[in-house]
Amino acid sequence: MTTVNAPGVPAIEDGELISTNPATGAAAGRFPVADPDGVARAVDRARAAALWWGELGFTGRRTRLLAWRAVLANRITELAALSHLETGKPVADAVVETLSAIDHVDWAARNARRVLGPRRVRSRLLLAEHSAHLEYQPYGVVGMIGPWNYPVLTPVGAFGYALAAGNAVVLKPSEYTPAVGQWLVDTFAEVVPEHPVLQAVHGLGDVGAALCRAGVDKVAFTGSTATAKKVMATCAESLTPVVLEGGGKDAMIVDADADLDAAAEACVWGAFTNAGQTCIGIERVYAVAPVHDAFVARVVERAARLTVGPGGDADIGPITMPSQLDVIRRHIDDALARGGRAVLGGADAVQPPYVRPTVLVDVPEDAAAVREETFGPTLTVNRVADADEAIARSNAVPYGLGGAVFSRRNGPAIARRLRTGMAAVNSTLTFVGMSTLPFGGVGASGFGRIHGPDGLREFARTKAVTRRRARSVVPAMSFERTSAQVDRLVKIAKILYGR
Ligand code: NDP
Repeated sequence: MTTVNAPGVPAIEDGELISTNPATGAAAGRFPVADPDGVARAVDRARAAALWWGELGFTGRRTRLLAWRAVLANRITELAALSHLETGKPVADAVVETLSAIDHVDWAARNARRVLGPRRVRSRLLLAEHSAHLEYQPYGVVGMIGPWNYPVLTPVGAFGYALAAGNAVVLKPSEYTPAVGQWLVDTFAEVVPEHPVLQAVHGLGDVGAALCRAGVDKVAFTGSTATAKKVMATCAESLTPVVLEGGGKDAMIVDADADLDAAAEACVWGAFTNAGQTCIGIERVYAVAPVHDAFVARVVERAARLTVGPGGDADIGPITMPSQLDVIRRHIDDALARGGRAVLGGADAVQPPYVRPTVLVDVPEDAAAVREETFGPTLTVNRVADADEAIARSNAVPYGLGGAVFSRRNGPAIARRLRTGMAAVNSTLTFVGMSTLPFGGVGASGFGRIHGPDGLREFARTKAVTRRRARSVVPAMSFERTSAQVDRLVKIAKILYGR
């Protein structure tokens, strides 16, 4: 079957997925499309590989993962160039993304034993005759369904932790970025040639669904909230646990005592990097009235300088998924029709495959541009009376992924009140690169965590073991107990917990 598509729209030809650059149509690669049997076979191979990988232990896996980390670091420009070719993103963005992924692999490899390894925990007085032991064991095979916007960081930030925890992984890259996904798999095989510990299966959404049904022990998904619900429903058939990252509508709050130049600089980066195709991208700003106009002026001045185009050195590249252009256009048109004003860009900003940076003010809170994920280089900046109103408005959407606060004095206090999984004070997006911190959201942004200690535990089964070290003085959990001993238990309960 042959499908003729526009640049950037994946085509399937003779059973192969063809990936192309969204700006130029240049081919990025061809990959065999997996059918459900092929997916199942990959999972079977992964199951055997998981046994071997698990037996390597933390030390053996650490050595391999650090070797792969070195490959990523030494070939960072090669990977960035491939990512630029396939997604259209600027090369510098691809480098920064890859560097962050490298740091996650490094941290996961070095810390897996400390976080997951066997350890004693304290016994409680009631069971003092037993010692308590805790460890986190690998699930076995993890299925990873990846997005196209950060085709390196997002999968690696999940499967790097899954691998460090001792699992084998089958990755279904987005149909828009199979070449990057396959590159990750191929280079991993260079340092782990013995068994297919990391594999890729390619295709469209049905291949992702087949992966959910192929007997994997856990699914890690990043993408739209709508697809996250489908993934969860599919995994519910077999009670397969999931970690879901379903997108966001992140807000930034600018308080009266903010450093406005720093806030504007960070805002422009947070909103427009990767052409706004960032799950934790800043899509809304709430600036308190006394600083609103000065802040908007600073944002517009900086955003107007951004370059847009196909070159690897542009600030903003093409929109990777062509259908997203309609969403972005609808959000801009709707905002303007409802009384919003474009102080930069606007109605003619969408010039396929590009969107020029667009800053909208006075946009009603019920507009799509304020409530729905836009995933483009657009930003609303609305005026609020004070930080309380800013927090209330920030929290008034179903999403709850990340957010940012600019304030000299009250940043942490405001950040704490955001109904999100993450927040940055006096910067934007920085939490994603902090390997020691968990990443994930609340509400429509999903649940579960990747990155950091929680991200390691997400890919492991908790195993709790007690071990008897003495006879029980007052046996409670035994049919051998006497009524006198039960009376003593009553007294103990009152002494220990009755006051
Ligand atoms: P999707 O959520 O549709 O795709 C994400 C991944 O899920 C892709 O690998 C996709 O495969 C796969 N998939 C699709 N359908 C199924 C299914 N039924 N079962 C299992 N896996 C499936 O996102 P899109 O790429 O279509 O983007 C749509 C919107 O999602 C964007 O406009 C943006 O708002 C949001 N988004 C958010 C991201 C984030 O970082 N949170 C990342 C990407 C998108 P395939 O690519 O083959 O369809």
